[in-house]
Amino acid sequence: MAFEGLAERLQGTLNKITGKGKINEADVKEMMREVRFALIEADVNLKVVKSFVKTVSERAVGQDVMKSLTPGQQVVKIVKDELTNLMGGEQNPIQFARKSPTVIMMVGLQGAGKTTTTGKLATVLRKKHNKNPLLVAADIYRPAAIQQLETLGKQISVPVFSMGTDQSPVEIARRAMEEAEKEHNDVVIIDTAGRLHVDEALMQELKDIRELTKPDEVFLVVDAMTGQDAVNVAKSFDEMIGITGVVLTKLDGDTRGGAALSIRTVTEKPIKFVGMGEKMDALESFHPERMASRILGMGDVMSLIEKAQENVDEEKAKELEQKLRTQSFTLDDFLDQLQQVKKMGPLDEILKMMPGANKIKGLDNAKVDEGQMGRVEAVIYSMTLAERESPDIINASRKKRIAVGSGTSIQEVNRLLKQFEEMKKMVKQMTNMQQKGKKKGKMP
Ligand code: GDP
Repeated sequence: MAFEGLAERLQGTLNKITGKGKINEADVKEMMREVRFALIEADVNLKVVKSFVKTVSERAVGQDVMKSLTPGQQVVKIVKDELTNLMGGEQNPIQFARKSPTVIMMVGLQGAGKTTTTGKLATVLRKKHNKNPLLVAADIYRPAAIQQLETLGKQISVPVFSMGTDQSPVEIARRAMEEAEKEHNDVVIIDTAGRLHVDEALMQELKDIRELTKPDEVFLVVDAMTGQDAVNVAKSFDEMIGITGVVLTKLDGDTRGGAALSIRTVTEKPIKFVGMGEKMDALESFHPERMASRILGMGDVMSLIEKAQENVDEEKAKELEQKLRTQSFTLDDFLDQLQQVKKMGPLDEILKMMPGANKIKGLDNAKVDEGQMGRVEAVIYSMTLAERESPDIINASRKKRIAVGSGTSIQEVNRLLKQFEEMKKMVKQMTNMQQKGKKKGKMP
């Protein structure tokens, strides 16, 4: 996971101070020394580290903190606030043009993930903003780029405008704008060419496209794994063509986090999105506060709720609640539930968004066994409908049949049935408690 080392070190350092009833300047100094090391080790830009340490130290030794009843917790809050500030404070949404179409120009070095991000962005625009985007293949130098974009476009059912490799990118952009007008596309996303290094010819071409299309957003796509290099690339692109925001890709990988923590301060341009995987739905809005919260192990409940809202069918959720209440919850519902949870993404990532998850021993290394979930599904699929409705009828011979049918064992069938029974019991207790609570609430 990204930020793993930093998260571990910062949390370790802050844990030492959280519980203290009193802290003095020496405690703060000692803590900040460790914070400084943690940031440097995470490949955060040195200037950024210095100013961060200075701000936090000044605030932490302030009278109101030292004299408060919970100085340790106040310091943790200051660290969180300042981490949030470092990453840009508020979340920074896409700027749409007042008059359609909105033009978004994607720029970046080769391999950063520009073409992939173009597709992902179109997905976000369609799903979350109800837009009808047109993708433009203006990278005529990397032969596979046009085809790659066309393939992505097909996959997500978004039109792609291309003219092969014979026309200049500026001409392609010009014709694409006409096409968008004709076809009523309200957003045009231009996938421009990348190079292995920042070079003069590329910059000129990008400037020409920018002049012609007057983009509302110029998104620089950088690879988070490249750390400080990403920050330098961002600086160069911004100086030479002017960017409006950054998309940090591959944050699902093992990046130490330096780029995410430095880019904003160094370029003064916000990180707008982060890439969390290769698939077309793996682009997330970047929320500095939520990220700070995750780094400090405080969970990210907001993202969790959003993920649930995006993936869980509300009607089904209501139906489920009703079934739980009336105790008519069956194994089929259980299966349904399992599948909905799976849609939210890899389970271990989801678990890490829960507050306090960092304190659960071993969760860091715990790979939730998705294979195990697959086996649970297989077991349920191997049951007849009657068995799913009333598991009580599952006797020894039925168990044997189910185990063979699902390629599992009788033990696994037993385990699932037991879990299911326990869950039902728990729900029963919870509903009882809730009802008692409600009754109590009504009393004068
Ligand atoms: P471009 O040269 O900048 O257009 O780069 P591509 O879009 O072709 O991406 C380069 C590689 O990075 C491809 O294999 C992508 O699948 C991969 N990639 C892009 N974004 C992400 C991301 O957020 N996470 C991961 N894990 N891989 C990514």
